Amino acid sequence: MGVERTLSIIKPDATRRNLTGKINARLEDSGLKIIAQKRLHLTRGQAEKFYEVHKERPFYNDLVEFMISGPVVVQVLEADGAVALNRKVMGETNPANAAEGTIRRDFAESIEANSVHGSDSAENAQNEIRFFFSETEIVG
Ligand code: ADP
Ligand code: MG
Repeated sequence: MGVERTLSIIKPDATRRNLTGKINARLEDSGLKIIAQKRLHLTRGQAEKFYEVHKERPFYNDLVEFMISGPVVVQVLEADGAVALNRKVMGETNPANAAEGTIRRDFAESIEANSVHGSDSAENAQNEIRFFFSETEIVG
């Protein structure tokens, strides 16, 4: 598999409940290394562009509203097989289906307000990392 990087976002439902540290502990305990991190309040334009792949989905407008409803923490995570490892630590999109011990099972409020984002492929990870970070902000 090899050392890989993925983009993570701690979503507004989690920052609102002061869960950044608890979520970071889950990531670090699983072996993911946080090699870049910043707290942002996304603009509508940024949120629309980031979730552009979901533009035709019925939940798109609500998702954009949710993602700009408060601060987020965007992160670059590094590990062997980081993309799949982070998806495993996150759990299923719908917290009702998420396995025990996953971030979404333990922290998510709903299928929408599900506490974390994680890239779903190595290729998307590269694009999503580039969307938020310059090379000099990433310290591996
Ligand atoms: P994931 O974040 O697990 O990769 P998706 O890429 O399918 O899931 O969806 C992106 C985000 O859109 C989800 O994390 C969630 O916040 C929201 N979402 C997905 N499906 C729904 C739905 N059926 N209703 C409301 N929001 C949804
Ligand atoms: Mg996704």
